[in-house]
Amino acid sequence: MTLLFQGKVEVLEEHETVVRTVRFSYRLPSILRLNHFVKSRAQNCIRFSRENIYIRDEFTCQYCGERYHPKRLTLDHVVPAVQGGAKSWTNIVTACMTCNQRKGGRTPAQASMKLLSKPREPAWLPKVQINFSIANTPETWRAYLSLVANF
Ligand SMILES: [Zn+2]
Repeated sequence: MTLLFQGKVEVLEEHETVVRTVRFSYRLPSILRLNHFVKSRAQNCIRFSRENIYIRDEFTCQYCGERYHPKRLTLDHVVPAVQGGAKSWTNIVTACMTCNQRKGGRTPAQASMKLLSKPREPAWLPKVQINFSIANTPETWRAYLSLVANF
């Protein structure tokens, strides 16, 4: 409510619940949008990890374009380690087991395989770790939660 009175957020959805002050009554916000995105220092550095690479690549094999459950995915060095490829955001991509095996210790060019997109260090990642049970989620949240990756 404080953010709302300060003009820092916009109300997209409201609860049925009403809160009353001496002079006014307000319906409690259910979904808010920040008017300005403040980049915090914590968000400047995204941890280089298996999970975050899968999230960046949207759990999609960067060679065949198929989306898989994380258990069926692997990490692929675009330029293989044996050929001097680094373990970095720009040289590691998500690959399914089939494509990873097919590519073997070769570069995409050597294996005649094409990358879907050039790997980059992401500026931000969606929060996919949030585990909402759709059955217990307020009705008004559902449209917004569909933006979050789910399995
Ligand atoms: Zn694949």
